[in-house]
Amino acid sequence: MKEAAKEIKEGKFVVALTGAGISAESGIPDFRSKNGLWSKYDINEYGYLDSFLRNPKKVWKMIADMISSFGKSNPNAAHYTLAEMEKMHILKAVITQNIDNLHQEAGSKNVVELHGNYRRLTCMSCRKKYGIEEISLEMLPPRCKCNGIIKPDIVFFGETLPKDALIKAFDLINKCDVMLVIGTSCVVSPAAELPVIAKQNGATIIEINMEDSMISHIVDYKLQGKAGEILPKLLNEIKNLL
Ligand code: NAD
Repeated sequence: MKEAAKEIKEGKFVVALTGAGISAESGIPDFRSKNGLWSKYDINEYGYLDSFLRNPKKVWKMIADMISSFGKSNPNAAHYTLAEMEKMHILKAVITQNIDNLHQEAGSKNVVELHGNYRRLTCMSCRKKYGIEEISLEMLPPRCKCNGIIKPDIVFFGETLPKDALIKAFDLINKCDVMLVIGTSCVVSPAAELPVIAKQNGATIIEINMEDSMISHIVDYKLQGKAGEILPKLLNEIKNLL
């Protein structure tokens, strides 16, 4: 922990990559755990863009379930610590795979969302944009004034990632000399490749996870445990060095 804190303090460009695990302590289960979304909804039936296009009403039931769990959740100590690190100019940006908006709610400003955000939606016919508060979930799927089906701006399997977010993420990764990888199993590409690229560029990789991930074998420091417990301790160590 002390050595990792020193690397962060001495880092010139520190970036974090986060996944579903950082929001677990906010009460949002990751997708692959025992109580995760994929234990309730078959990934093949609900997780693909094709599934949505084939049967939007059915897939919207899962989305509505997800939205209700996001709506009841608040940021936890891990989200707040990253926001504080950004305010202290220790952390440049958070690249997140999460769609739950909790980094922004905790106060992080520079957030790159690789997989979108559930609070933004688009009509699939006329491309009109909606905010989540403008949508009624009483009749599924929600429809636009033009009668087109509304889809949340979240990335389904089989869908390309938002181009702007990808460009920003690769730019940050190419600049970073220290990378925090928090609460992600690193199985979903291209997010999973980002720590590998950073490592190849010579960056120090610090992983915070309760378990091993697909990139654990390449990391320089592994801080095992809950992100909401480890990150505040890590920041205290950094503060001791200032
Ligand atoms: P994942 O479910 O594949 O892996 C979660 C990882 O977090 C695991 O390695 C697990 O060991 C770790 N973890 C669990 N609880 C933790 C904790 N308290 N502290 C630290 N680590 C913890 O998640 P992923 O790698 O992000 O990939 C899943 C995909 O599903 C992503 O694309 C993401 O968009 C999406 N997703 C998003 C949310 C959300 O927005 N909150 C929730 C579920 C899934």
